[in-house]
Amino acid sequence: MIPYGKQHITQEDIDAVVQVLQSDFLTQGPKIAEFENAFAAYIGCKYAVAVANGTAALHLSALALGVNSSTNVITTPITFCASANCIRYCGGNVFFADIDAATLTLDINKVEELILSKPAGFFSGIIPVDFAGLPVNMEAFKVLADKYGLWILEDACHAPGGYFIDSKGEKQQAGNGNFAELAIFSFHPVKHIATGEGGMITTNDDKLYHKLLQLRSHGMVYQGNDKLIENHGGWYMEMQELGFNYRLSDIQAALGISQLTKAGERLRRRNEIAAIYNKAFEGTNVEILSLPANIYHAYHLYIIQVSDRKKLYDELRKNKIFAQVHYVPVHLMPYYKNIDDYTGKLPRAENYYAKCLSIPMYPTLSNDEQEFVINMIKSHSKSEV
Ligand SMILES: *Cc1c(COP(=O)(O)O)cnc(C)c1O
Repeated sequence: MIPYGKQHITQEDIDAVVQVLQSDFLTQGPKIAEFENAFAAYIGCKYAVAVANGTAALHLSALALGVNSSTNVITTPITFCASANCIRYCGGNVFFADIDAATLTLDINKVEELILSKPAGFFSGIIPVDFAGLPVNMEAFKVLADKYGLWILEDACHAPGGYFIDSKGEKQQAGNGNFAELAIFSFHPVKHIATGEGGMITTNDDKLYHKLLQLRSHGMVYQGNDKLIENHGGWYMEMQELGFNYRLSDIQAALGISQLTKAGERLRRRNEIAAIYNKAFEGTNVEILSLPANIYHAYHLYIIQVSDRKKLYDELRKNKIFAQVHYVPVHLMPYYKNIDDYTGKLPRAENYYAKCLSIPMYPTLSNDEQEFVINMIKSHSKSEV
């Protein structure tokens, strides 16, 4: 069986987890800060806050940014639904702008059109998604956000380690906080770094950082924090706002630390696999991404577009190749349709959805397996035209 994506757990990972199981802390121990510091260093940001999963990261980010029932936010329809749901959790309203047909990420011009179609001050924020691992040009989005007074929450779940080169020629890693207020990551096993369930929020903003720490743990302020309003003694802690238990455990953090040490080399392997696919599909009727210049793609997914996607999907399945579709557009989900029916209003997203297929992409995919996948797809697409 060849899935579209898969985690890679080594003996070192297992040893790291066992060590925590034999230690004093299964949760709220030293591995959390160690993972946060290592992750912040990897991404190149000031702060990282570990949380229970990527969805919790989005929820806390929306809360920290002050989303409420009068908040209107723009995101892409081609993402996992959690990118939009976080706004709904806080009672806010989600608006979708179409994707750019080449990068498959939020089209900045469509975002500006949407902003201008409403009264000034209508929108509060934008959630761009580094879809499939392609780092969005956050510098350009920052210019737009500043022009209209918006915040940016970057959903970087697909792109840890990916980067674009900015207008000054500098490397800007996805989620580094230089342009977006906050960015979020997921450690679901299908993502680059696996902790079972897990997530991270990254930022360079002190205030947001402290707010996130508090929200992650019941809205509680502990001893040693000068924000305490009263102090009755060593036991005393204060719940100052309504937070959650969105903590990551030390067991998961230890796995994350160990996984992170291999992230760079695995990212290079993903790019190697992508290069082989790119070459194999050149000049065929299998459509592949043409990348913008000056980006390093993180290849969470390798996506092709074909005219008879369902037939290819079924045929690959028969041969135990489990390709997948990313994603059913969020605006076509019954929940969002019931709020506002966008059907037909986002033609590029819908056209993409009609043709897209994510084919196997993970570091342990062998050359033989990849060749088998390529041959299956090529022989199918040849018979089609
Ligand atoms: C995986 C993912 C999430 C959610 O992460 P979980 O850890 O599964 O909650 C959010 N956004 C995107 C783009 C994702 O791929």
